[in-house]
Amino acid sequence: MSYKTVHAQSIQDPQTFWGEEAKHIHWEKPFDTVLDYSKPPFAHWFKGGLTNLCYNAVDRHLAQRGDQIALVAVSTETDIEKAYTFKELHAEVNRMAAILKANGVGKGDRVLIYMPMIAEASFAMLACARIGAIHSVVFGGFASHSLASRIEDATPKMIITAEAGMRGGKAVPYKPLLDEAIALSSYKPAKVLIVNRGLSEFVMVDGRDLDYTAERLAHLHAEVPVEWVDATHTSYILYTSGTTGKPKGVQRDTGGYAVALSSAMRLIFCGKPGETMFTTSDIGWVVGHSFIIYGPLINGTATIMYEGTPLRPDGGIWWSLVEKYKVSVMFSAPTAIRVLKKQDPAFLTKYDLSSLRTLFLAGEPLDEPTATWIHEAIGKPVVDNYWQTETGWPILAIQRGIEVMPHKFGSPGLPVFGYNMKLLDEATGEELGPDQKGVVAIEGPLPPGCMQTVWGDDARYVKTYWSTIPGKLIYSTFDWGIKDKDGYYFILGRTDDVINVAGHRLGTREIEESISSHANISEVAVVGIEDKLKGQVAIGFAIPKDASNVANLEAELMKTVDSQLGAVARPARVYIVTALPKTRSGKIVRRALQAVAEGRDPGDISTMEDQTVLAHIKTVIQESAKKA
Ligand code: ATP
Ligand code: MG
Repeated sequence: MSYKTVHAQSIQDPQTFWGEEAKHIHWEKPFDTVLDYSKPPFAHWFKGGLTNLCYNAVDRHLAQRGDQIALVAVSTETDIEKAYTFKELHAEVNRMAAILKANGVGKGDRVLIYMPMIAEASFAMLACARIGAIHSVVFGGFASHSLASRIEDATPKMIITAEAGMRGGKAVPYKPLLDEAIALSSYKPAKVLIVNRGLSEFVMVDGRDLDYTAERLAHLHAEVPVEWVDATHTSYILYTSGTTGKPKGVQRDTGGYAVALSSAMRLIFCGKPGETMFTTSDIGWVVGHSFIIYGPLINGTATIMYEGTPLRPDGGIWWSLVEKYKVSVMFSAPTAIRVLKKQDPAFLTKYDLSSLRTLFLAGEPLDEPTATWIHEAIGKPVVDNYWQTETGWPILAIQRGIEVMPHKFGSPGLPVFGYNMKLLDEATGEELGPDQKGVVAIEGPLPPGCMQTVWGDDARYVKTYWSTIPGKLIYSTFDWGIKDKDGYYFILGRTDDVINVAGHRLGTREIEESISSHANISEVAVVGIEDKLKGQVAIGFAIPKDASNVANLEAELMKTVDSQLGAVARPARVYIVTALPKTRSGKIVRRALQAVAEGRDPGDISTMEDQTVLAHIKTVIQESAKKA
């Protein structure tokens, strides 16, 4: 079947389409209806069906591949590398589930997981799923303030943590941050379970804190029955990255999610049972939930969890893992590839990459120079895909499992099956034609796997996502884009980042793409700032590859933009900087750059990776003003 036929069927007859897809997972009891959309925009998938995420990810594979590897936990920080077969993973998850149960955690209770990328974190997630508890993984890099607000929002009965993470060879204490967060929070968890890695000193709180090693030993032979839950049972809460402001607590179901991930693994990522997938993200992000843990495992595909940077011990480390574990599917982010881009490509080609079929990238716009660089370095297809924490799996992608379709540089591809995509004029809500710029929207019902609601706040869900296009109940992605005559989408930036220069509407992405085509640029961000004459002007912040060769760089970059986009898109300034402000998931925080460039306070920057970067940007702007 062609992509066109499959996509059309998924939209016109979702009951049949998803009814068929649902056969790929285990149902303890069949569902009553495929889709109940009687209360839009709330879509209920596979209601009445009983299933379990952990069963689908682990137990179901025991008979056929119990002795095959399910999980490899690699840490280049502690030099620990350990593989678990499905049987071993099953045993560990049962132990963890028994600990949860023994401490009063049951179906529907929340468990907050604040952990580094160690195997125990995946045991914790799967154990929650096993007993019907709702996990909320909080990225291990967050400090106490961000953590406290998530504890208050999710009100977990138990928190699972490690005493420390490790980054760049240094221990990063977690336990004191967690203690601080609990002190800050008005809600207090009853129990805290600590995996002691022996990396840093910490204090146990009497009556509250539990030692994982001791608890595990006490439950070494535990067998915890799977809790069969309704397909609509909430499996987890996950907060968005906070690139645009306060993170939103995305609430996800069970059955729809399992089905969507199974479909995505087969039809988009083309990972086969018995193979290995390596997703370089973190379990604190949605990519980690869907394609480090649940997606591969549900599919019977082994997964690699990686703790460490892409550059330690050297820039070849990820590719050495591809060789060692015969990885067939790899999934990373443009931001990680830009880090590698500063390295000699020889590091990548040193290894036998013959098992690898495809490299998938998502999370941010993939600029052409980065895509070309990595494609040439590894000699494999590079597939961009576009989605959000809210959707849980790709919205736009080349769906190679359905049909081998041509790529277009700069485009994540075509609407994924199940997504009824619309490109709309934000002001009128009218649907736009080819090559017109507008907001990327999705007509309901959202397909299986997408968010059910904002945790504890249905009204906020409807107001935030479904009420922004005049006169229409339609889901807004808050991203701006265009669609070409072949139906390929191009993401031009966030709707908030659209610049209006003397009446011309420009996506920051277009200008960034142009600047990054200059041979000496490794990374760039463009923002619009207020201008008395033109309404707004574009300002660029660019990181050079070779910092010793920047004397005429700004002028050259302006010329590049002039020749590619026209003078109207030319930034008023392009500052040459050494770093850009990013969230901990590696996304550029343009609103903070804009605030600094306009001389305003950047507001809440607690989800930002390195708080000193903004000071650097400020200095560059000030120094350059002095020179002028
Ligand atoms: P918040 O919603 O809290 O501001 P966030 O939007 O960064 O944070 P995520 O859900 O992690 O949180 O990111 C989804 C967004 O990332 C998309 O809406 C889009 O802006 C961007 N994005 C993801 N993948 C791509 C891609 N392939 N190309 C372009 N942009 C992408
Ligand atoms: Mg978002």
